[in-house]
This record gives sequence, C-alpha cells and structure tokens, in this order.
Amino acid sequence: MSHNSELSPNTSGVPPKKRATKAAPSKPKATLEPCEPCDALPATFNRHVRYGLSRGEVAHGELFQALALSVKEQMLDEWRETRIKDSCYDNKQVAYLSLEFLMGRALGNALLNLDLEQDSREALSQYSVSLEELEEAEHDAGLGNGGLGRLAACFLDSCASMDLSVTGYGIRYEYGMFAQKIVDGYQVERPDRWLREGNPWEVRVPHHNVTVKFFGHTESYVDKQGRRHMIWVDTQDVLAVAYDMPVPGYRNGRVNSLRLWKAEATDDFDLAEFNQGDYTEAVACKNLAEQITMVLYPNDASENGKELRLRQQYFLSSASLQAILKRWVHHHGHDFSDFAAKNVIQLNDTHPSIAVPELMRLLVDEYGLEWDAAWAITSQTMAYTNHTLLPEALERWPVRMMALMLPRILEIIYEINARYLDLVAHHWPGDGAKLASMSIIQDGPDPHVRMAYLAIVASFSVNGVAALHTQLLKSGLFKDFYSLWPEKFNNRTNGVTPRRWLAHCNPALAKLLTSHLGKGWVTDLSQLTALNALTQDASFIQKWREVKQANKVQLAKMIAKECGVEFDPAMLFDVQVKRIHEYKRQLLNILHVIHLYHQIQQGHTEHLVPRCVLIGGKAAPGYFMAKLIIKLASNVAHMVNCDPVVAPYLRFAFLPNYNVSAMEKICPGTDVSEQISTAGKEASGTGNMKFMMNGALTIGTLDGANIEMLEEVGEDNFFLFGLNAEQVSQMRCDYQPLRIIAESHALSEVMALLKSGHFNLLEPGIFDPIIASIESADDQWMTAADFDSYRLAQEAVAKAYKDPKKWTQMSIRNTAASGRFSSDVTIAGYRDDIWKL
Ligand SMILES: *Cc1c(COP(=O)(O)O)cnc(C)c1O
Repeated sequence: MSHNSELSPNTSGVPPKKRATKAAPSKPKATLEPCEPCDALPATFNRHVRYGLSRGEVAHGELFQALALSVKEQMLDEWRETRIKDSCYDNKQVAYLSLEFLMGRALGNALLNLDLEQDSREALSQYSVSLEELEEAEHDAGLGNGGLGRLAACFLDSCASMDLSVTGYGIRYEYGMFAQKIVDGYQVERPDRWLREGNPWEVRVPHHNVTVKFFGHTESYVDKQGRRHMIWVDTQDVLAVAYDMPVPGYRNGRVNSLRLWKAEATDDFDLAEFNQGDYTEAVACKNLAEQITMVLYPNDASENGKELRLRQQYFLSSASLQAILKRWVHHHGHDFSDFAAKNVIQLNDTHPSIAVPELMRLLVDEYGLEWDAAWAITSQTMAYTNHTLLPEALERWPVRMMALMLPRILEIIYEINARYLDLVAHHWPGDGAKLASMSIIQDGPDPHVRMAYLAIVASFSVNGVAALHTQLLKSGLFKDFYSLWPEKFNNRTNGVTPRRWLAHCNPALAKLLTSHLGKGWVTDLSQLTALNALTQDASFIQKWREVKQANKVQLAKMIAKECGVEFDPAMLFDVQVKRIHEYKRQLLNILHVIHLYHQIQQGHTEHLVPRCVLIGGKAAPGYFMAKLIIKLASNVAHMVNCDPVVAPYLRFAFLPNYNVSAMEKICPGTDVSEQISTAGKEASGTGNMKFMMNGALTIGTLDGANIEMLEEVGEDNFFLFGLNAEQVSQMRCDYQPLRIIAESHALSEVMALLKSGHFNLLEPGIFDPIIASIESADDQWMTAADFDSYRLAQEAVAKAYKDPKKWTQMSIRNTAASGRFSSDVTIAGYRDDIWKL
C-alpha cells in the first residue's frame, strides 16, 4: 500500500532518520536493539479484529478495543524511546503527584496527537461504523472529581507536547467518579465500573511493583558507629502494582507516562492459618489490601476525614517515591548529592503531601542519610500547589489515626515540626500564640496534623492557581507563612489543553481557524490573536456563525436524548456545567430562570431573547444542599418545559452525568458561559477557559481566572456583575438579605413564587432549606446580594444577542483572547520558574 512508508512506527510526522539521530545517546545507554518497524495501523487493526474478537457481527465495543490496541501499538516504540532518552540524558525529572487524573476518553486525543485520524478512518472503511461512533464506545476514565483532576490531565498533555520529562503518578481506582442518574428530580449515584471491558491503553509493569507498609510500630537500635536508627516493624504490607498509561505529545515523538498504582495483597499469607486449614481466613486479607484502590472519594472541595482516604494518600505517595528512588539508585548508587538538582515532586493540592515525611523516612531509614542531608533534599525537591481557600477543604488528619496507621511517619512529622517551630520562635520571639497557630500539629483534646502547613514548610515553591487566589493566599490563609518565606510564593494561573478543548472537541472551528491562520495555533495558542483582524470580515463572521450554529444543533441532539427537552438552536444557549456547590451558585442561575419564567407568564416578553438554559453537574453524595439544588433545578425545569406559553421564550434542562466527554460536546455549542461564583471562592476555574476558547461569551463575577479572562478580552466582550472579593468580605459583617429582597421587586417576586410551593405542589416544604439559606444573614454565598446585578447583566446578554453580527464579533474576540489560558502557557511557567528544566 502506498501509504505504508508514511505510517510505520513513526507516527509523529518526524522523519524516522532524524528521530534516530535525536535519540542517539551521548553517553552509554541501553543495549536493546531497535525493533522492526511495526505494521501500519490498518493492518494492525485488522489483525486485532480477526484474532482477538468474536466472529460474525462485530460490536462497536469490540472494534473500539481493536482500534485502541492498534493505536497503542503504534505508540510503543516512541514510548520506549522516550523512557530510554529520559534516563540516559540525566535530564531533570518531574513527578506530578495527584490523587486525581480526570482523563476522559483517550482515543480521539491519541489520534489527534499522533496524526492517525486518516489511517483510522481507512482502517474502519470496511465496517459500517464511523470513527465518531467508535469513539463513543470508549468509557471515560473518570479518575477525578472535577477541576483539580482535569487540570492534572491537561498538564500531562501539555508536558508531553512541550517535550518535558514529566511523569504523572496516581491511583488506578477500580471505581472512578460515580455515574449520576436523575430519578424523580433527585440525584442517584451508580458505581462506575470503568474497567469492566478492560482498559486497552494500560500496560501492567510488575517489575516496578513495590510494597507499602501500614500499622505496626517503631523500634530503635544503635549501629556500630554509635548512630541511632529507627525501624518500622510488624507492619501489614500492601503490594503496589504498577500500571502505565501512555501520554502522547502532539506530533513530537514523545510519549510520557501516567503511572497508576493498584493495591494488591502481598504473597505472604498467614502460614499458621494455612496450616490450620483456615484457607478462607488467610485469603481474606487480600480484600483488605485491595480496598485501598477500590474507589475514588467523590468529594470535590471538601474533606470527610475517612481513614481509607489517608491510606490512599500514603499508598500513592510511598509507592511513587519508592519508584523514583529506585530509579535514582539504579543510576547513581547511594549518592544523593545531586538528587534535588535532578528531581522535582509537584504536589497537586495537599492530598499527596504525606510524601514529605515519606521521602524523609526513605532517605533516613532506608538509605541511611543524616536528618539534615535528607531535609535539604526533601525541601529542595517538593513543590506544592494550593487549590482552594475554602476552610472545609483544608485537610487535617487526627494524630491518633496516624499514630496507629503510620507510626513512623507521625514521628517524622513531629521532628519536622519541632525544628520548624524553632525557626518560628526565632522570627517571632516570645510569641506563643504564633507558635500555636503556625504549628503543623493543631493542639487540643483531639490533636490534628495540618497537611497544608506540612506542605508549605517542606516545599521550595507554593503556588496558587490564579492571580486573585494567590494574592488571597498571601494576605489571608497563609499570611504568616508568606511573611516567613515570601520567596516561596508564586502564581501559576491554570489553563486547559487546546488539543482536547479546541482541536479535538470542535473540529469545525479548528478547521476554520487553520484555514485562516495556519495550524501553528495548536501548539502556540497566542496565534489566535490574529483573529482580531478578521472581526470586520463579513464572510468570516458568517462562517464563524455557521460553525457555532452547527455545534448548537449537535448539542441540542444530545440534550434531547439525555434530558428529553427540545433545545431550539435558534435560541440563545446559556450553560452552567460544573460540580454542584453552593459557592458556585447554581442557585443564583435557577433564581434567574424563575424570574424569566415569571416575566413570561406575566406577559413581559418585550425585551426577552428566547433562551435555553442548561445546568449540569454532580453533587457529592453526602452534600445535602447540593443535592437539593439539583432537585430544585429539576422541578423548575419541569414547570418551565410543560407550559406552552413559556416554550417560545424559555427552555430549561438539567443534564445528568456531566463528565469530560459531555463537556467536549457542550462547550463548542454554548453561547453564554455561566461563571458566577461568590467572589473570592473559586480559586481559578478551568471550565470558564474551555468555553472562552470555543467562542462562548462569559457572564461572570470578579473571581478566580475570570478576572484575567476579562483583562484579556476587555469589558466590552464580557458580562461582568456582582460584588468583588473585598466587597463580599466587607458586606459579610452586616449582611441583611431580607432587606435586599424587600428592596428588589424582581427578587421579591421570585422568592414569593418559590415560597408559594409553585415548584413543589406535591412535595410540600422540600425547598424550605434553600429558602432559609437565601434569607439567612449567615449565607456565606450571598446569593441575594448579587441577584439584581446578575439579572441586569443577563438583560445585557439578551440585548447583545439580538444583534447577531455584534454577538459574533464578540465571540471571535473571546476565542482570539483565549491564548493565555492554554495549559502550555501555564506549564511554561512551571517549567521556567518552579521546575527549572
Ligand atoms: C473542566 C471540567 C471541570 C471544571 O469546571 P469548573 O467550571 O472550572 O469548575 C469539572 N468537570 C469536568 C468534567 C470538566 O471537564
């Protein structure tokens, strides 16, 4: 076949010879000979279909497996070359530790990055199935809750695409994020057995397995030189089994790894029990071990302090660090003098911060370093990213729990704390209160370990995720730490990968962009600013509108299928999808829908624009108010959609089971993106960036990265409303929602309708907690305070939408200004200022 030579293992677009030269070692290296080029994709695919699968009619799921396995095979050579190159060149390595990686589907992204789309279509040509249908057969890898986990996934794509030696370390949860169903308007959680059909992308690599210790106790002994050592004994050991997933860069020949750990029982069953014939008892411990990686905790931005969660954190941290140290020792022996210069460990929030004492333990107890040397290494290797200011999200673990589960780790934390408190005492002489407030151990009848403090003390870098967030960390939550170590603090505003979130999810827009700008934007999103020169070009405006319109048709199809609600693509599509949380204020959005509904019923339709409102997102299963907000959205949607008088002006749907794949269809078809959190509460947001990239206009508060988006796009192209963070904290001292409601005609009407039971005629009183929260002087989220400002901003949205040309120009300007929110920009910041690669 004529295309064979282009295809074979080289899928990067780089000629094989050149790549071979690039990979040629300057130092002694692995002895493995390069293997024969593997078959082209269509041939591999046919082989997999023929030999791996059933006869006769082949189901989509099976064809997907065959294609995924073939694509993985195309990556194997480059994956191996990347590994060899990184270890031979003695490059600095980054380990990105995260309890969450919200990867979503891998096929479409891999085909894009490896430039295998055409070959795949060819391979599929003999089957009556489109590539798009096959992509739908892949189960989302939902190993994360929301923004934090998706950020980790975007970072992996950027690191690989920017040719950086970065490995993700996470947990291979048997059950990822639960699937959400809506039954009678209520959220019902269903387990997500994403591995049931197997995971074609992963490779089990048992030679990288390590064991992780739990429980037991510590003993000390003195060696021949008179040095005292600690050993951790009588432990219950768990095997950490390594699974690697490939992370292909965008057409550059690099394939990085995401290493996911699975917990399994070690082989040493209790022999005594075996001898007594108690086979089942002996095998039972297997289940205990495997529990550790059974399920992802479904709490976004809150902690529930469960013991199993701490076990997960330690399991990930210990296994990953052992793997990193093993590799180091393999190349450098026990000489750790250069370790900190060659390794960075980036902690994605405090979740893996137990890695701090674990690295100390490994260096001191296992590799025999002196405390000071080990501390010098640890504190020059660790870097911590903070993701939230919400107090309920700050992790603290009971000392008594740690004493039992991780006795040696607790001793080390106490030692770190004692030495660090000397420094605090030196900085604030005689200030006992300061010592208590800054201590890693929160004292009291039930003392706790403050994980964020541990992370700050041990890290050379502490970063926030948007300018406002970092500023609030420095002036509020971590003020004292900032005065102690100002040089540690820095900002890295989040970003999203333009491969998945534009090139892959919006092929029509990508094609239009490339036809006018060339294809450089895919790896240099700042090139989109060139779109500003086209905002007066009538034919370009027309094409832009056609693309958005076609995407709205697709989105409407999905909504009809998933929600049973007809969205008319001629109407404005107004969307809020994200985790359900009071601070994100889905409630404010619902109140506005009620306001519109009421206006329409009163016949006040003259300045309305026909609008379809979509809300979607999962609530933490134990979060009562979030679940009630879903129920309110469902009930209001029911009333809105069953009224024929309302139908021409307003439709409202709650989309079940919001996830990465859903977002890939939602953001291209959205006109208005709702980013309406209470100012000072959303650390950054990344959903806001996906929408902006795809030409949605934002209605939003001065919160998180919204502020920087507004800066980039200008006030004329952004619908700003509400109190700013400072005004919020001012008003909190004397917040009077009842007065605010009384003074707002519109809000009074909305509250009256809500209180009348209009939306819960058969379920009396169910929304009372919501009504009470809006009316409460303690309402943290100050929904009432921002209502009128929000309503007026929505009127401005409607007015703008009535002028299609102007609206489209604003849409183009949003995409044009989104370049700064590519995760490539974020990662360039990490690379230059934190990782120093
Ligand atoms: C981007 C994304 C998020 C984060 O959304 P925010 O609006 O920033 O909270 C959460 N979940 C999924 C599935 C996403 O794709």
